[in-house]
Amino acid sequence: MKCRKGCGACCIAVSISSPLPGMPGGKPAGVRCANLLPHNTCSIHGTPAYPEVCRALVPSREMCGASFDEAMRYLEELERATQPEA
Ligand code: SF4
Ligand code: SF4
Repeated sequence: MKCRKGCGACCIAVSISSPLPGMPGGKPAGVRCANLLPHNTCSIHGTPAYPEVCRALVPSREMCGASFDEAMRYLEELERATQPEA
């Protein structure tokens, strides 16, 4: 499937450990990426600054669901499931 324009769930829900423009230490889970515009599109998509980690993400029905809310639920659950034990 294609990325749903204006979704942005994966730019909020997931943690990203590699540096992002404006976020040199990466991004914690549940925090909006600094490059995510208010209407949930990426301000640097299609530019040379677009990070490799975002380029590599492949949208899928399983991850993205049918709505922003479904994607958030899936991704938040994934974050919980992949968190290292405290
Ligand atoms: S969760 Fe899927 S549809 Fe939503 S922004 Fe990410 S890749 Fe695109
Ligand atoms: S750089 Fe763009 S695509 Fe990547 S997480 Fe941030 S807003 Fe999303």
